[in-house]
Amino acid sequence: RAKQQGRNSFSLYTPGLQAYYQRALQLENALRRALELGQLSLHYQPQHDLHSGALVGAEALLRWQHPEFGPVSPAEFIPLAENSGLIVPIGDWVLSEAVRQLAEWRASGWDLSVAVNLSGVQFMDLGLVERIRQLLQQHGVPASALELELTETITMQDPALAVTVMDSLHGLGLSVALDDFGTGYSSMSYLKRFKLDKLKIDQSFVREMHPGSDDAAIVQATIGLAQSLGMQTLAEGVETEQQRDFLRDCGCQLAQGYLLSRPLPAEAFARYLQGCGQPIAAG
Ligand code: C2E
Ligand code: MG
Ligand code: MG
Ligand code: MG
Repeated sequence: RAKQQGRNSFSLYTPGLQAYYQRALQLENALRRALELGQLSLHYQPQHDLHSGALVGAEALLRWQHPEFGPVSPAEFIPLAENSGLIVPIGDWVLSEAVRQLAEWRASGWDLSVAVNLSGVQFMDLGLVERIRQLLQQHGVPASALELELTETITMQDPALAVTVMDSLHGLGLSVALDDFGTGYSSMSYLKRFKLDKLKIDQSFVREMHPGSDDAAIVQATIGLAQSLGMQTLAEGVETEQQRDFLRDCGCQLAQGYLLSRPLPAEAFARYLQGCGQPIAAG
């Protein structure tokens, strides 16, 4: 009887769901060793000023190359890392590797900033600010050259704590960007209290942004909101010249997307800098 019930309850899982959990379990186990086996790396996606065309910075994006699974998308493994706690050592590696690389590029004379994505656990960790301060000092990088990307979900989990953390990050001189803006649930009053430096307009709005469409109206309203709260705007997922021109005409300052460049491995990004990087002003 018990055996019968056990079998019945197991039948709740469809074959598709079972395969999904099996892969998740396998990936999570493999992820435990990914750092020490050197399977993780960072790619860098250029961010350009829409008006001058200048390269202003790059977003660091985590990549995982596994010998059997091949390249695994961060959209798949970041949630696994977050649920298993592995995001703590992995997120710390991302921060230190990004700052190390940024220091190297700046030492070569390039004026740029790098943006790092943070997970909720990292953001709520009281040691974060001190850790970043140490990293910047160790590598001799000015705080203004490091940007942190947070999502609305992270900030709204505990808005009061988020305000405190944000204040200490600003105290260090870092800049903070709100990622995927428009896809979560931000409170307008907190948006003001967070004193964010930048709103990143989510690519889902940019994709369907034909003149006169709802998404175009959302993008225009977002740019207006950011302007009146003293924040910069960066459009994500810019793939066509029409999108770029429309965004520029709406007053959006910055853009990132395949039209400008795909995310590049560090060596390729260094060559990209040779082509269009801004030298650090002398003196
Ligand atoms: P995100 O932070 O919103 O990053 C932007 C994503 O859009 C990246 O996907 C990028 O490759 C992709 N993208 C850029 N331009 C275009 C475009 O023109 N068209 C399209 N279709 N896509 C474009 P990616 O690299 O797969 O990363 C996915 C997400 O994984 C990121 O979204 C971020 O939430 C997360 N992630 C990546 N690296 C890290 C990390 O180091 N730490 C944490 N916590 N999360 C990360
Ligand atoms: Mg991001
Ligand atoms: Mg985003
Ligand atoms: Mg995203």
